[in-house]
Amino acid sequence: MKNTKFIFITGGVLSSLGKGLAAASIGALLECCGLKVTNQKLDPYINVDPGTMSPFQHGEVFVTDDGAETDLDLGHYERFTSTSMGKCNNLTTGQVYYSVITKERRGDYLGKTVQVIPHITNEIKDFIYKTAEGYDVSIVEIGGTVGDIESLPFLEAIRQFRNEAGKQNAIFIHLTWVPFIKTAGEVKTKPTQHSVKALREIGIQPDILLCRTENFLSEDIKAKIALFCNVEVSSVFTAKDVSCIYEVPLVFHREGLDAKIIELLNMWTGRPRLEEWEDVVNKFHNPSRQVCVAVVGKYINLTDSYKSLNEALVHGGIANNCRVNLKFVDSEKIEIEGTDKYLADVDAILVPGGFGDRGIEGMIMAARYARENKIPYFGICLGMQMAVVDYARNVCGFKDANSSEFNAKTPYPVIDLLPEQRKVKEKGASMRLGAWPCAVESNSFAHEAYGQKEISERHRHRYEFNNEYKKKLTDKGLRITGISPDGSLAEIVEIKDHPWFLGCQFHPEFKSKPTKPHPLFKKFIEAASKNTRGKSGC
Ligand code: GLN
Repeated sequence: MKNTKFIFITGGVLSSLGKGLAAASIGALLECCGLKVTNQKLDPYINVDPGTMSPFQHGEVFVTDDGAETDLDLGHYERFTSTSMGKCNNLTTGQVYYSVITKERRGDYLGKTVQVIPHITNEIKDFIYKTAEGYDVSIVEIGGTVGDIESLPFLEAIRQFRNEAGKQNAIFIHLTWVPFIKTAGEVKTKPTQHSVKALREIGIQPDILLCRTENFLSEDIKAKIALFCNVEVSSVFTAKDVSCIYEVPLVFHREGLDAKIIELLNMWTGRPRLEEWEDVVNKFHNPSRQVCVAVVGKYINLTDSYKSLNEALVHGGIANNCRVNLKFVDSEKIEIEGTDKYLADVDAILVPGGFGDRGIEGMIMAARYARENKIPYFGICLGMQMAVVDYARNVCGFKDANSSEFNAKTPYPVIDLLPEQRKVKEKGASMRLGAWPCAVESNSFAHEAYGQKEISERHRHRYEFNNEYKKKLTDKGLRITGISPDGSLAEIVEIKDHPWFLGCQFHPEFKSKPTKPHPLFKKFIEAASKNTRGKSGC
């Protein structure tokens, strides 16, 4: 077996410092050094997975090929490295206890008192070892902030892990905050000192400090942090704010972070080849044009809810040398004030995925507006379903057509549950999830984008296009250009005589990377950039 090296990343002071991005960027850097890297996320909450949490609570739920509903940080890991994430890359307290309690009931611990130490901590360590098998480096991010009660078992587990694996095989990186206080005119190191103190109290001495700041830290400040936190000055790094997240690996490299990690873990690698990332950042900063895309949804006040979507749109822009300006539109406002007010000056309209009936009429209005005014339209999952509802109501004349999710009594349930979904009693992990194959029809927007007939995309939904209406809708011009290989599930719909109108039942945003923009996003932004009606600037 390979001698895998481990990097544990903890966070201090407050959340939202970008721990996930830091973990992903370190992954990118080490991969560019020629190493085989994987990432893991340990989440202290008790939910078995975030699938049952509202996007308002937890941000986006990221879906993997193997159908796991995971933390959005796994999306960062996939965008920054080439390793595919899956069920085994995200562990929660809920999963740990579930497994330990199942073993206890089975009698695996007969005669013993089952305790946090060693049973819970062993379970966590086993997971860390198992997921890392076959990789040169495993980067393990611990969710939450040091000092939280619920993260203690995870921190205790990684403390033990380092003792077992040895210093040269496992290191601790702590991400902390060094704020600039305007009234004092200086940066403050006290929050970092306290955070490291809290970490050391539970037996973890960080090897590297990553300090999130507005500006680069002076050598004096680094020396002060080093002195109070018991680390070498050369182990204190600035994690400076950047305007493009894909710049983070480059900034870390310039600071020497990869060299330090490689030195501490006693590895031998070449210099990182960062041309691909430089190219992405260059294109991001020097677009030759810009477009305005309206995102019409209901989670618009929290951009974390559409994390992968926002990134995929940026990638589509990078592929077209185009800046993508997003105009988030609350679909409920469209219901009250009409489409014109919000959509008259945009180059393209996107309706993303979602659950629950709030704001859906506004989404249907947006799909209709795009269809009638020939504005490029991209409907993702719910956005596809709402485009179908508009078509049924306003082209086919099926009054009150709807998805049975929103109106169980609709006379025209053009979107409906399949029999197997009707039987579902438990909400957790019971949707159509993960990668499903799809056959693409030629002479379609989809085929033009993918350039191939067989594709695989990730799903997360309960409702489906109702085949009882297939003939009625297609006779009136709706095209079904993507279907499951057995012909039973409609996966992509399009309309003719339109610059670009496509709805897909899956979530293409989960598979887009800055270095490999997703073909549908590439084509959607291309169509938006050809549209001359919008004001582009938003
Ligand atoms: N609520 C819809 C369904 O369950 C759409 C889900 C989604 O957009 N991800 O089918």
